[in-house]
Amino acid sequence: MKPCFNHETSEYEKTCPLCSKDYCEYCLLLVGRRQTLICTNCYSYIIRKIKNSTKRRYILILGGIIILAPTLMQAPDFLSSGNSDAALFFIFNLVIILTIALNIVRLVQYRSWNIIEKYSRTLKGLK
Ligand SMILES: [Zn+2]
Ligand SMILES: [Zn+2]
Repeated sequence: MKPCFNHETSEYEKTCPLCSKDYCEYCLLLVGRRQTLICTNCYSYIIRKIKNSTKRRYILILGGIIILAPTLMQAPDFLSSGNSDAALFFIFNLVIILTIALNIVRLVQYRSWNIIEKYSRTLKGLK
């Protein structure tokens, strides 16, 4: 009998695709709408990383909006003045918009990590 990495007495069910260690049915989770298989160890590690970066992403989004709002209000005057810095102005704002968009996408993706199902419960449902 191949034992579980967490419990010596439990029987191996599947290997975690992330850490490649062997686990029993109680140490496995199905995450997200696609029900990706992951072990509880990897899950708590990823959740910790997500919690840390969520704060940073909110700050980036908020900071981006604060920088962008007044500049965009000046944009029509600035662009019509024929100033040679117009291209630079455009690129600068584009970078900020992209930063905001990327961070929003990431935050939405993080939400799918809250959808979890115990692998053992899914097994029982099948039986
Ligand atoms: Zn794992
Ligand atoms: Zn186990």
